[in-house]
Amino acid sequence: MAQTLQDFENLVNGKRIAARGGQWLDSYDPYRGEPWARIPRCAQSDVDDAVAAARAAFRSGPWPAMTPTERGKLLVRLAGLIERDAERLGRLETQDNGKLIAEMGAQTRYMAEWYRYFGGLADKIEGRVLPMDKPSRFTFTRHEPLGVVAMITAWNSPLLLLSWKLAAALAAGNTAVIKPSEHASVSTLEFVSLFEEAGFPPGVVNTVTGLGPDVGAALASHPDVAKVAFTGGDMTGQKIYEAGAPSLKRVSLELGGKSANIIFADANLDAAVMGAVSGIFAASGQTCIAGSRLLVHRSVHDEVVERLTEVARTAKMGNPAEPGTQVGPVTTQPQRAHILKMIEAGKADGARCVMGGGTPKDPAFAQGWFVEPTIFTGVSNDMRVARIEVFGPVLSIIAFDDDAEAIRIANDSPYGLASGLWTRDIGRAINASRAMESGTVWVNTYRAVSFMAPFGGYKRSGIGRESGQESIYEFLQTKTVWFETEESTSNPFIIR
Ligand code: NAD
Repeated sequence: MAQTLQDFENLVNGKRIAARGGQWLDSYDPYRGEPWARIPRCAQSDVDDAVAAARAAFRSGPWPAMTPTERGKLLVRLAGLIERDAERLGRLETQDNGKLIAEMGAQTRYMAEWYRYFGGLADKIEGRVLPMDKPSRFTFTRHEPLGVVAMITAWNSPLLLLSWKLAAALAAGNTAVIKPSEHASVSTLEFVSLFEEAGFPPGVVNTVTGLGPDVGAALASHPDVAKVAFTGGDMTGQKIYEAGAPSLKRVSLELGGKSANIIFADANLDAAVMGAVSGIFAASGQTCIAGSRLLVHRSVHDEVVERLTEVARTAKMGNPAEPGTQVGPVTTQPQRAHILKMIEAGKADGARCVMGGGTPKDPAFAQGWFVEPTIFTGVSNDMRVARIEVFGPVLSIIAFDDDAEAIRIANDSPYGLASGLWTRDIGRAINASRAMESGTVWVNTYRAVSFMAPFGGYKRSGIGRESGQESIYEFLQTKTVWFETEESTSNPFIIR
């Protein structure tokens, strides 16, 4: 018997609504490979409604009249509500995107800290009184919000990645229209209810769901959107950049990667092997910061491969909703098809598949969208599996002979999101961290993030930074105010 699907509606101007056209999209449970919920399939008119609500809330009513301290208090109150509901939100994410409850639950709990941190920062954004080269002028700067910020997000960590944008944007005084991924919208639709409970005025946070090329594109080109903050693939990021160009929108882009995780000969191999596993298999590889290229010094190469396959082989595949599961399904069918195609490309290009290499044979996993954890050795950096983002549990191991070669290979990529260095030599760590063309470098750790630590990409991995104090300026613009303090009339035909 077909399962009854739960309907989740958008939030616009404080009201729950379906799409104007009455259309819906199914949302799938990747573990069962079947739909479990429906979300509104919106169109341009729905985007217009959501943007109009956000624009009205930005321009009039209680939100623009609030002091930064009041806005900060709302964000801190919201953080408490998130902690109360973190487990429920984490379970929704697991059902919708198939990632482990251990991971999604940890993310939904941790995301509260972004609201607390930026809530605290809201009233510490100070302008400056300028010393001025013109003595009769009193001149100061102030930082003002931009207006309506569109937030378009990916399916892999829906609420955490949204929070990196939303907490800073609201602390700065903007309003928001959120377009979550069509593959995992449910947690966002449930989460936004907490804003009303925390006391945010209606219209400050709105959602619009649907397909990227319809709703995402309409939002990215909307003339009343001041900025688009995006997380997703680099090709989509490029389209968003182009869509925003005619209205000169600000754009910040958190895009994909092909991050190099480098194990030097002097590394603590126990820690390095665990770091390599967490870099690629933790979220079935569905993380922008996946350490998908493992560069290993030739002298320890065979030992690392042996230890790594030993750990990866014992990883427990199963239902992502069970706390003991270590490898869950991948989120979408097209994504699984892409991963399997990349595995075939690795084989065809001459890499050696030493583990995995397809879908699991166990019939228990036949229905869900599983891919085996896969390890390639003998990879050279020009193979497709080393150049294209797989976004799945596929590790490419590349051997190197000296530091210069490791750095050259690591930087020989169109991407530059993150990198990892495993060494006990402090000089080597400092020199290599300086040489890495990536927005984040981890030394003797991997896949660590914090609300305090700026995050973003070099090269095709993105524009702008999220998290950390400086990221709030991505959502602010500077106004300079001039006063003349003397009653003099100067020559109007020369610059004053
Ligand atoms: P995606 O680019 O396919 O989709 C992301 C979002 O963009 C979705 O909401 C989608 O509906 C929307 N979209 C699609 N086409 C659009 C268009 N033409 N105009 C406007 N919006 C459009 O990415 P995905 O498959 O959901 O996520 C995986 C990608 O995200 C990977 O490349 C991954 O590396 C990247 N990612 C980056 C970060 C980061 O912080 N740097 C974090 C997570 C994921």
